[in-house]
Amino acid sequence: MLHPEIMKVSSGVSSYAGRPTWAEIDLDALAANFQAVRRQVGSGVKVAAVVKANAYGHGAVRCAERLAAEGADWFSVALPEEGIALRQAKITEPILCLGGFWEGQAEACLQYKLVPVIYRIDMAEAYHLAAQAAGVVADVHIKIDTGMGRLGVRSDNVDEFAARLRSFKNIRVDGVMTHFAAADAPDQDCFTNEQVARFQEALNHIRARGHNPTYEDMANSPAIYAHPKARANMVRPGGVLYGLWRDVLQPQSNLPEFSLVMRLRSCITLLKWVHRGETLGYGCTFEAARETLVATLPIGYHDGYMRALSNRGRAIVRGRYAPVVGRVSMDLTLVDVTDVPDVALGDPVTLMGTDGELSISVEDVAKTAGTLSYEVTCGISERVPRRYLPEAQ
Ligand SMILES: *Cc1c(COP(=O)(O)O)cnc(C)c1O
Repeated sequence: MLHPEIMKVSSGVSSYAGRPTWAEIDLDALAANFQAVRRQVGSGVKVAAVVKANAYGHGAVRCAERLAAEGADWFSVALPEEGIALRQAKITEPILCLGGFWEGQAEACLQYKLVPVIYRIDMAEAYHLAAQAAGVVADVHIKIDTGMGRLGVRSDNVDEFAARLRSFKNIRVDGVMTHFAAADAPDQDCFTNEQVARFQEALNHIRARGHNPTYEDMANSPAIYAHPKARANMVRPGGVLYGLWRDVLQPQSNLPEFSLVMRLRSCITLLKWVHRGETLGYGCTFEAARETLVATLPIGYHDGYMRALSNRGRAIVRGRYAPVVGRVSMDLTLVDVTDVPDVALGDPVTLMGTDGELSISVEDVAKTAGTLSYEVTCGISERVPRRYLPEAQ
């Protein structure tokens, strides 16, 4: 005999063709977060909104369109390919390629008016030659490694680098930048201050060699709030724009309320009772301690709902938290809905984000999975369609 609960179909399901798993992207929340940054830095500081990695998984084109309308001065991407996609979507603001460019991409950077970050002399030369061939003088930004140890000209080599750049007549140093290793960590503030000092020194060398950069930029999201002097005349926020901050910013009393931009949702596609003592999922890692009503959700780790959430994550169903039971598999996840009154087939479920009174923050999901919130939203795969809110835009 089938229990009545598992036969009942929810009336609240929207008409949705295809697998009912999606990510809602709240563009008004994105705009509010951007305006919070704008208020913080004031109108005299340019904001280069970071939309690399498909805007941390939120959809680079739609996010950039809205951020442009809100007054973003620049966009930052990681790869020239990402910049080209924005240009093809008619984004006209200047675009900084944080990772520079790879062999064969100098012409495309010029053609699409992308501004590459330069950190090797051969890159500078290649860009100069490409600009010369195109008959233009092209802007570049120079990246200084002040302690991250990753991309950038080491600060102790900057003088020589700046001197050699002078021979490349078809490039112009439009900006100088660096990136912080630990701006989020109060116990590393000394190190961050040291990075700022090295940057100022590097800038002095660059100017002394006759370059005249318009932009000086250092600050990522945590530095904007914790190190005001690192704002210089441009900032590069990423995480806070998407409402990711609890595991990114230093704890401070006067932080604005950032709103989560992504909400991850699915629907119950199967309900079943299992008996006490029965096990669920791969590896039989969950054993029912009671008669248990189990809901199957069509979302799994290929969607970016991480396997690390097995037996640890939770979902919101009809105003209750329902724990993930058993292993998250590639395409499917199980939740225990025994304690959810009136639960029904087709009920919408929230795996990340706010749902009524309840909320599952991305930061909490990240903590449970042992990672950073950025990795969670970046990991929501292309298989999950993005639905943009508000809809009439
Ligand atoms: C990703 C990135 C940023 C943005 O960092 P958030 O912590 O997301 O604000 C800024 N600058 C560079 C060079 C980056 O790579």
